Amino acid sequence: MTANLYALFASRFPADSTACCIETHDGQYYSWGDIERASARIANLLGSLDLPSGARIAAQVEKSPEALILYLATLRAGFVYLPLNTAYRAAEIEYFIGDAEPAVFVCTPQNFGWVAQIAFKAGTRHLFTLDEGGNGRRNSGSLLARAMHHPDSFDTVEKQADDLAVILYTSGTTGRSKGAMLSHGNIGSNAQVLQQYWHWQAGDVLLHALPLFHIHGLLVAANGALLNGSKMIFLPKFEAAEVCRQLPRSTVFMGVPTYYVRLLASGGFDRGTCRNIRLFVSGSAPLLADTFAEFAERTDHTILERYGMSETAMLTSNPYAQERRGGTVGQPLPGVSLRLMGTDSEGRSAVCGAGEIGDIQVKGPNVFHGYWRMPEKTAEEFTADGYFKTGDVGRFDNQGYLSIVGRSKDLIISGGYNVYPKEIESVLDEIDGVLESAVIGVPHIDFGEAVTAVIVKRPEAKLTTADVIALMKTSIANFKVPKQVFFADELPRNAMGKVQKNVLREQYALPAA
Ligand code: ATP
Ligand code: MG
Repeated sequence: MTANLYALFASRFPADSTACCIETHDGQYYSWGDIERASARIANLLGSLDLPSGARIAAQVEKSPEALILYLATLRAGFVYLPLNTAYRAAEIEYFIGDAEPAVFVCTPQNFGWVAQIAFKAGTRHLFTLDEGGNGRRNSGSLLARAMHHPDSFDTVEKQADDLAVILYTSGTTGRSKGAMLSHGNIGSNAQVLQQYWHWQAGDVLLHALPLFHIHGLLVAANGALLNGSKMIFLPKFEAAEVCRQLPRSTVFMGVPTYYVRLLASGGFDRGTCRNIRLFVSGSAPLLADTFAEFAERTDHTILERYGMSETAMLTSNPYAQERRGGTVGQPLPGVSLRLMGTDSEGRSAVCGAGEIGDIQVKGPNVFHGYWRMPEKTAEEFTADGYFKTGDVGRFDNQGYLSIVGRSKDLIISGGYNVYPKEIESVLDEIDGVLESAVIGVPHIDFGEAVTAVIVKRPEAKLTTADVIALMKTSIANFKVPKQVFFADELPRNAMGKVQKNVLREQYALPAA
């Protein structure tokens, strides 16, 4: 039997092919039959280009049903889908094209000019534009116009579970993005586990507000609905008022923590808005315990937080039916072995017990096949017994719920003590007048690293650095108290909205003594 992910989805499509698969915010409907026919046309087009096996089809396109259809068509045709963040500009696209060497690049009509220059210089064989359906402005470079000349049926190409399906570039939070190679088996097994774990059911409607180029929107949200044969309401982006308008028509919503913060701040959001929702999921970054608690109080819904990464898809999740704990990412998903590694009293590496902090390592059918063209980096990131080192640091409570303490690269060692930035940030965020904060370690002659806080104040706040340090001294051990506090207008974030601590470390490095 084929392990092609598309074949798995298609085996779950509703019997009624006229039922709605995607509805857009502006009222366009795509039935399951439409999706099948449109993906067949594009798969036929890709098949006609005489591409080598394993060819990468890169796409930097606006979110639309057509973008999802392109993903499905690539899977059907047996090629490798490579989605790229729409925020990337020329220098970044040049890096991705150079690194991934896609045979086909699909861009927006607006970006065609500058993308063409980069793509042709790099020897990309085919460049198409993707415009949304029905606007009638297609030119000869339009993927959809070209696909129209191809038949609307296609025999999905046979694939083995280990064959590459998607290359997902990591978000570039800790450094340059790396291409994570995910196979049909990696993605399919994770989607099936989540379908059961989150009780996807008949009648579910997913409100899809996430981008399609990242693991959350593509492999967790869209795949979930595709595998369950459930309708999606597609929003081009997150916008609180539109989400509030669509929530009553939906049963499942997935978002990054900021979405929940913005919903809570939005005038139109209340219990009534959430009346038909069965499940709210959060991930990609830490959901503050405060947001979790306020959301529960205001809506009677407990957000289900989960944890995963581009390299592994989803790893842990809070339970569906049992208690969901704020500030934790739940328990390892079925099939995932997850251990925390620390050192014992003799300095040997050892598995941590409950309450101890250690490096998160994982194994399972969902774990990727390595970094694209980085065999040495791949080898470094796996242990001798086959566990992948996630680079995240965590702690289990005594009931097996995992908390993410931070990233190992962000851990601060000051005067010989380990300082976990997230702990300090949580205390800082409680201070009146602090909007948000980031804590980093900067090299220091005496301490090794000096705990340094960068704070964004609320507009009206009168806080001084001395106030912050004095307040911190009353709440945490002295070695954790920031040695320096800086105020900034905003924190540097990458295209996924994650705070870039490497940038802060450079910016706030102490001048050489
Ligand atoms: P890069 O690997 O390029 O530095 P990145 O790690 O941010 O970027 P992604 O694969 O998009 O790239 O993100 C995965 C990371 O996001 C995880 O390793 C973890 O640090 C963080 N993350 C995901 N979910 C959660 C969560 N629920 N709580 C805390 N952190 C999370
Ligand atoms: Mg990462």
